[in-house]
Amino acid sequence: GPSIVWFRDDLRLADNPALRAALERDEPVIGLYVLDEESPGIRPLGGAARWWLHHSLASLADRLRERGGTLVLRRGPAGRVVRETVTDAAAGAVFWNRRYGGHERDIDADLKSRLRDDGVEVASFAGSLLFEPWTVKTGAGTHFSVFTPFWRACLGLPTPRPPLPEPREVDGPRRAPASDTLDDWALLPREPDWAGGLRETWEPGEPAARRRLRAFLADDLDGYDRARDEPSAGATSLLSPRLRWGEVSPHTVWHETLDAGQGGRFLSELGWREFAWHTLYHFPELATRNLRPEFDSFPWPRLKPSLLRAWQQGRTGVALVDAGMRELWHTGYMHNRVRMVAASFLVKNLLIDWRRGEEWFWDTLVDADDANNPFNWQWVAGSGADAAPYFRIFNPELQAKKFDGDRHYVREWAPEHLGDPPPTPVVDLGESRKAALAAYEHVKRAA
Ligand code: FAD
Repeated sequence: GPSIVWFRDDLRLADNPALRAALERDEPVIGLYVLDEESPGIRPLGGAARWWLHHSLASLADRLRERGGTLVLRRGPAGRVVRETVTDAAAGAVFWNRRYGGHERDIDADLKSRLRDDGVEVASFAGSLLFEPWTVKTGAGTHFSVFTPFWRACLGLPTPRPPLPEPREVDGPRRAPASDTLDDWALLPREPDWAGGLRETWEPGEPAARRRLRAFLADDLDGYDRARDEPSAGATSLLSPRLRWGEVSPHTVWHETLDAGQGGRFLSELGWREFAWHTLYHFPELATRNLRPEFDSFPWPRLKPSLLRAWQQGRTGVALVDAGMRELWHTGYMHNRVRMVAASFLVKNLLIDWRRGEEWFWDTLVDADDANNPFNWQWVAGSGADAAPYFRIFNPELQAKKFDGDRHYVREWAPEHLGDPPPTPVVDLGESRKAALAAYEHVKRAA
């Protein structure tokens, strides 16, 4: 019977090992995507992510159709839905590229053994990371908690395989199993439609992702090291949502970057992505629990909802933070330097638990994923792997001078800060810094 390719965070045809395995089997191929908002432990997608997913699936379905194939959409707990689809299609095989979160791995492992019991061929592949988490180990056989030796160890492993070519034909079955439509899923916002800024900013889908990669390598790779920290320079790749949804694979980015020139610094950013995913693999509760348990004793004061709201809406009175939070709301993206400053301000000046910030980013970022988002929040909060020490508190004004000296970024996103008088900060930067350091004493005592 037909082969099912279960697409997850790998919405592409090129360099897709699961798809290639299906094509090699020489039976009709059925693409399947399951919207799973029910399995225990699976984190429901945020609003911006749902927007991206809608468009990326639409693009993938078109591309499969152009090649003779089909994409079946189904909703429900993945373990059950995949088996139902196998039955409906009388499929003989199921292929997928691996996931690395704890609950996802449990679901996939359970499904694999059930399908095998049913006599269905199943295989999983490495498609979303350059290095499988269990292959990167310290001399003592444990996993790394510091980035530099982690990345050195990765670079000492066999080099990531070259990307697989994009298939020209994907023959579908004569009769495809029943499918939902994307409209059934209502992934797009209705009233109010807040996605205008997302539509202006992004074009989801594999072809646009590949174009973006090529344009970045041709125009910006040379200047990347110098300008990557300036939020108005447009110097970074903007590949994060594309990698998040797997519209382009890290292998493709890796090899095309090396073909284009040096790119050591840029490739080490891909290394941070690997490090975050490996950390999630070893610590599945990354989004909810402090990686360093001494932070459990951090005395978070009672939440002041008005302060959290001011931060979410970009009305803190601190220019770079406000600009960043509004860029995020409008575009579903924020420049990395500004993410660090805005996150630090929430945790260390407003003394709000990093998990509240992580949840907001989860809902508003188009690139939010289960590893990078909580990993980076914990990195900023000081509770994470190879984290910035808690006592190193970004001064958002100095950061703005250093990285937005001409104020282009603040002018674009929060122009009232160029007015006279500028807005007043919701907390005094010096006083709040002192309060954060005093709270941190508890963590030191617990360590
Ligand atoms: P480039 O500078 O062009 O980097 C290339 C790629 O490397 C990125 O696309 C990304 O895949 C990876 N990368 C770069 N920096 C990091 C990093 N610090 N950690 C992990 N991978 C990195 N990135 C996400 O992809 N998803 C998130 O949910 C996310 N949440 C974040 C939350 C906070 C508080 C902070 C400080 C950072 C977060 N980042 C997240 C990391 C980083 O800000 C973005 O990956 C980056 O801004 C994306 O822009 P770019 O693609 O132009 O990056």
